[in-house]
Amino acid sequence: MTTSARRGWLGGTFDPIHCGHLDVARAAHAALGLNRVTLVPSSIPPHRPQPVASAADRAAMAQLAASEPWLEVSTIELDGRGPSYTATTMDRLAALGVDLRSLVVITGADAFVGILSWHRVDELLDRVSFAVVSRPGHPAPALRTALSALAPRMVSPESWQPSSHPSIVLVDAPTAPVSSTMVRAAIAAGQSLTGLVPEAVEAYIAAHGLYTGT
Ligand code: ATP
Ligand code: MG
Repeated sequence: MTTSARRGWLGGTFDPIHCGHLDVARAAHAALGLNRVTLVPSSIPPHRPQPVASAADRAAMAQLAASEPWLEVSTIELDGRGPSYTATTMDRLAALGVDLRSLVVITGADAFVGILSWHRVDELLDRVSFAVVSRPGHPAPALRTALSALAPRMVSPESWQPSSHPSIVLVDAPTAPVSSTMVRAAIAAGQSLTGLVPEAVEAYIAAHGLYTGT
């Protein structure tokens, strides 16, 4: 079976989506030769701090940000079936007929450093490849020492073999030093969002009066 059609899977709260997220998608797309990247707004377990914007608004902003032909949005984690764990989403994709060997889960290095506490992590790492992209202050190559138990699975994009056992591909590329927290703070302070979020997302935020109270 061919695994040549490679799809990236970038989950996040996207509250709101910003230029850093798009840089992560672009970096993984370029470094791993992905055919497409799916942005996946996540639902949050009830006992964790909830997103400020509604699921519908977060998905709508992700859709507006997905302007490149290879970018798309999935609302699979927003359908009310409870908290999103990557492992259970992978179960659902597999049940839908997706070949998980063609999928690459994308995260920032700040998120991946907590991977050992993820739901069903051992099984997850054996099932699907990861692309871990540097975030300002969180270089992906540092994960070789921070997560030394997983270091044997870590490879550079140049040495990655998509058909091999699932790997952790470290992508050391620059991304915009932006966070959703920073964007919400800028809105609350009445500052411009130019350079922080795509123009269409800025217009959506203004039109819907989002984040003005945070
Ligand atoms: P918040 O400030 O609310 O925590 P965030 O900016 O971290 O938001 P998330 O939706 O939590 O955004 O991030 C989704 C994914 O994108 C995570 O894997 C995170 O590591 C990654 N990511 C977000 N911003 C960047 C960035 N500027 N560079 C690299 N990775 C990023
Ligand atoms: Mg975050």
